[in-house]
Amino acid sequence: MDLTYPPEAEAFRKEIRAWLEDNLPAGWFDAGFSLDADAKADWQTAWTKTLFDGGWICASWPKEYGGKGLTTMESVVLAEEFHRAGAPLRADFFGDTLVGPTILQWGTEEQKTDFIPKILSGQIAWCQGFSEPDAGSDLGGLTTKAVLDGDEWIINGQKIWTTQGFIADFIFILCRTDPDAPKHKGISYLLCPMKQPGVEVRPIEQVDGSAEFCEVFFTDARCPKENVLGGVNNGWKVAMATLGFERGTSATTGYRRFEKELDIIVEKAKANGRIADPVVRQGIAKAYSKVQIMKVNGLRSLSSVLTGKKDLGVAALSATNKMFWSEYHQEVMNLAIDIMGMEGQILTGDPLREEAVPGYGVRHPNPRFPASALQSSFFFSRSETIWGGTSQIQRNIVGERVLGLPKEPRPEAKAGA
Ligand SMILES: Cc1cc2nc3c(=O)[nH]c(=O)nc-3n(C[C@H](O)[C@H](O)[C@H](O)COP(=O)(O)OP(=O)(O)OC[C@H]3O[C@@H](n4cnc5c(N)ncnc54)[C@H](O)[C@@H]3O)c2cc1C
Repeated sequence: MDLTYPPEAEAFRKEIRAWLEDNLPAGWFDAGFSLDADAKADWQTAWTKTLFDGGWICASWPKEYGGKGLTTMESVVLAEEFHRAGAPLRADFFGDTLVGPTILQWGTEEQKTDFIPKILSGQIAWCQGFSEPDAGSDLGGLTTKAVLDGDEWIINGQKIWTTQGFIADFIFILCRTDPDAPKHKGISYLLCPMKQPGVEVRPIEQVDGSAEFCEVFFTDARCPKENVLGGVNNGWKVAMATLGFERGTSATTGYRRFEKELDIIVEKAKANGRIADPVVRQGIAKAYSKVQIMKVNGLRSLSSVLTGKKDLGVAALSATNKMFWSEYHQEVMNLAIDIMGMEGQILTGDPLREEAVPGYGVRHPNPRFPASALQSSFFFSRSETIWGGTSQIQRNIVGERVLGLPKEPRPEAKAGA
């Protein structure tokens, strides 16, 4: 197996490294570098603009819509170098990763030229309006309605678990537009403005006092008629494209946050002596092996994209990816809490200082619930087997769509059996 990258990819790598060195703040690569909270907030705003000016946000997108048209290989190298530098590479997750690629795949020319530049520049923030109180895994059961009235859709209903709903300017929302059609038909995918009287956002407070996701209520909310993505009553197919983007991760960089996090866990075990415990050592060895499996699988996925290979193995790799990393993460965070011992049972985080942990991101200071960075990662890992399709649903997909096993009996069939 040849794991080296072609010379042109390595030349591109040098270009990215030079750009990062020229544009990141002085001292960024020095051990112990940090910015205070105000300086960091200023830098983050400026960084989005610097990235945009450099053309690096969604650089694989076509040039005519503001991307750089990077090849798959170049995109991989770009992601690797930003990861290596620990530098952010996006404006807004929901825009860059979910709705942007969906608009490029399904949008009209007008939708692309209207929305894509605003996504790239970070001018508009998005949220995802799929889940409802009675429609999560069974998304086809959604009941939020949109009815055409002249030049506008009038939306009524409720969404839930809407991450960053309180800051979003737009929501990509699934609505029932033909109540008489079968469950998965008659749904449309709308791009709806959030800042209007008909949209009420209620953040859901969690046990730690934070409130990242929200309930969103629509009461005669208005959305321009032309903001349907992929055609009226075709929303299910469009939504599947979005979910595909949500479940995929950057092939050769997805494992890196776990690798860095495992180093921190091992350091912790060395510092408090738990490293001498054979069960802890066994747990660490198992975690290390799984991270290596993610790394190799990432390279396998990349090779299959580059060579155009499509077989059962490739399909299984992509379908098992999300459950593999999310279940790994829960397992290793349980181990981390065990390693911390009594320290893991009390809240030892700094209530005033931001702390980074690679497997989680940034822990924001929270005086009411000062969890440490590793504790925050432990809590967040609980949600990772739920959002973007639960592990159980992923297993159904592997069974039914990859292995071709008989379909799961539907509730109606069970009742009649
Ligand atoms: C942190 C977080 C952020 C989120 N952000 C968003 C967001 O921004 N926008 C959005 O629209 N949604 C969001 N969600 C919602 C998420 O998509 C749903 O929680 C998820 O789809 C599961 O739906 P549910 O919660 O209704 O659970 P349910 O579908 O009710 O499932 C409950 C349990 O039953 C199991 N189950 C259900 N059906 C089957 C089946 N057929 N076979 C086997 N087991 C089954 C599930 O696996 C699960 O264990 C977020 C969720 C979380 C945790």
